[in-house]
Order: sequence, then C-alpha cells, then structure tokens
Amino acid sequence: MQESNFLDIAQTRKWLHHVWSDFWWEHEMPITGGALSLACGYTTSVLKPSEVKRMGPTRFRVVSRIIPEIEARRLCFQPKKNIRNDRFLWIEPPPKRVIQKLSPKDQWNLSAHCVGCGKNQFLPVEISGDDKPYVACYHCLAPDQYRSFGGELVSNSLIHEALKNYH
Ligand SMILES: [Zn+2]
Repeated sequence: MQESNFLDIAQTRKWLHHVWSDFWWEHEMPITGGALSLACGYTTSVLKPSEVKRMGPTRFRVVSRIIPEIEARRLCFQPKKNIRNDRFLWIEPPPKRVIQKLSPKDQWNLSAHCVGCGKNQFLPVEISGDDKPYVACYHCLAPDQYRSFGGELVSNSLIHEALKNYH
C-alpha cells in the first residue's frame, strides 16, 4: 500500500477522538490506549486519549497504518477487567457478507456489512414479543430508534462474542 492510502495526521487524530468517544466503539470494541500501544509495537502505554494533542508525527503514522486493519476487523481488541491484561488479536475474518439494517443475529458475522450504508457497525437488539435475537445497523437504525419497533439494546458485545471462536 502506498503512503497516500493511510490517513494523515489530522484524519488519524480525528479517528482516535471518534473511537475514544463514540457509543458504538464503546459498546462493541473499546480500544484502550494500553492495548492500542501494544498493537502498534510500543512496549509502554504511550497512546492515550489525554495524549492525542501531544502525539508526534511518528506516532500518528504508526497508528494510521493499523487503522485499516482495525476497520476491517483483522485487528480486534478485547478489554479485560484488569486493564493491564487488555489484549489485541489479529484474526482472519470470515468472507464479507451483506445484510439488512435489521437482521436476525444468525445472519451477522464479523464481516457483515449493511446493505443500506455499506458500513460494518452493528449492535445487538432484542425485540419484545420475538424470541429471536437481532442486529441493527448503527448508522441506519440508531439506538434511539429502537423504541419505534419495540427493540432494546443488548448489553453484550457482538464482536466480543464472535472473538471467542478465535481463541
Ligand atoms: Zn446501515
């Protein structure tokens, strides 16, 4: 890949701010500074929300190189109760599949993309009166819309559940 395919410093900063404040990331795959630092090859926790302003160009470049891997779910993160045990893992995700913005959960996998927006960010939903679990696209059907169809957010992360198969 050429250098131009990676995010620049401003884009990388924006990405980090987003990941460290956005609901979907918090629910589905929280990325702590410690685990991100390790994934970037640093031996100490040098990447953290409070340090983004002071990060130098080299660190931004290092982070920008793994962002496409994170976005493609080839690089995943699993927080642990003890933050020191936070881990990252490289996986081979299943082949890409396209599903509806509201789909039965058994149609979802780590490579599922929404037919509406093309994004791969879903949340687990249960619908009252329906025993089947569902997933909803975070962009086409935001959590504040769930009430309109009797839906409720499930607290367990889809991604963390899926990662159990990769241990
Ligand atoms: Zn969508």
